[in-house]
Amino acid sequence: MNRDELTAIRRDLHAHPEPAFCEIRTAATVLDRLRGLPVRVRTGAEAMTVPGIPAYPSDAVRSGFAEHALRDGHDPATVASLAADGTAVVADLEGSRPGPVWGLRFDMDALPIGEADDPAHPPAAHGFRSSYDGFMHACGHDGHTAIGLALASRLADRDFAGTVRFLFQPAEEGGRGARAMIAAGAADGVDKFVAVHLGLDQPVGTVGAGIEGILATTKMRAYFTGRAAHAAAAPQEGRNALLAAATATLGVHALPRYSTADTRVNVGTLHAGDNFNIIAAHAELALEARSTDGAVNEDLTGRVKQVIKGAAAMHGVEVRIEETGGSTSMVCDAELVRDVVAACHAAGYGSQTLETVHMGGSDDASLFAAAVQQSGGLATYAVVGGSNAAPHHNPYFDIDEGALPVAVDMLDKLIRNG
Ligand SMILES: [Zn+2]
Ligand SMILES: [Zn+2]
Repeated sequence: MNRDELTAIRRDLHAHPEPAFCEIRTAATVLDRLRGLPVRVRTGAEAMTVPGIPAYPSDAVRSGFAEHALRDGHDPATVASLAADGTAVVADLEGSRPGPVWGLRFDMDALPIGEADDPAHPPAAHGFRSSYDGFMHACGHDGHTAIGLALASRLADRDFAGTVRFLFQPAEEGGRGARAMIAAGAADGVDKFVAVHLGLDQPVGTVGAGIEGILATTKMRAYFTGRAAHAAAAPQEGRNALLAAATATLGVHALPRYSTADTRVNVGTLHAGDNFNIIAAHAELALEARSTDGAVNEDLTGRVKQVIKGAAAMHGVEVRIEETGGSTSMVCDAELVRDVVAACHAAGYGSQTLETVHMGGSDDASLFAAAVQQSGGLATYAVVGGSNAAPHHNPYFDIDEGALPVAVDMLDKLIRNG
């Protein structure tokens, strides 16, 4: 695949951004491109476990995106199975010699944010701005998917040792996709795991072979159920869900800091009640915990839940807490970081290679990394600079497409160097 083709795939994906678990046209494009390559492909229940995914998009929402894929001429049977059984694609490409099993993660999802319609924004100026209102590839995952496909075609000569497993992942944003793929066994047997992310405010040509500062996180929703009553005539008959949620909000933000790791908590939304003269019978919070340390994040998550339950008990209301996503922290293995640095030098990008880049956000690639490391394997998270002028998750976010071949070249050398 030449550079023009790589750019064209990225632009096509950019123009058709699909959010978490709706990556139907994207996954169909992946399957189309893998056809004819010497890969063993797994989809559906073999690639991800749908039951148990919190807030999984409804049939109607997924059908809407399936319609787009059909309109663009994708095979109806493929589209139907992606819509019904999940959008993850796992493809194993076996080299001609024995060696390690590589796991390379390429996330495919877009964000629910509208894209700038301004000639100063290159996708608008060059005709590949999002054609789906309210959705946008504002994190570079269009580029990640294109990189994975270009690498698969490049490695199709099988002139390397071991096996490369391409993990085309849905729903990175919000932290639900990796977990669903790991549950289906996608990380089983992986010896060396590498995730690549474009952008992160680094100039094009720069590669960070590892990261630090990635935050473990837990996303939660809490549903409070009380009892409605007349606010003046019989307030004592009510059980106030709004007060319970408000008490919980203050309590969560009042939790102590940790001396051993950085932590964050945030209650982002509070919706409650029906009217000014009714004791609120329902309330809902959306909140998150984060930490630089995975164990601390778990402990903090436990305390957050305790505060919510305590606030509910205080006001005599019921509460149900749902974990809607999450990921852990990640420590990159020095040995694999060194291999990525060496691969960058071999690919001609050595002068702009950094060992470590600060991340400061979250990515559920950390769950793949943890699964691989717990089985004795190695993991890293490489940052490929894209000279993004606007920040990630912004309507003006864009990647310098010169970053795409940098990532493909680097990964190609990494695999072939063993
Ligand atoms: Zn993102
Ligand atoms: Zn991202």
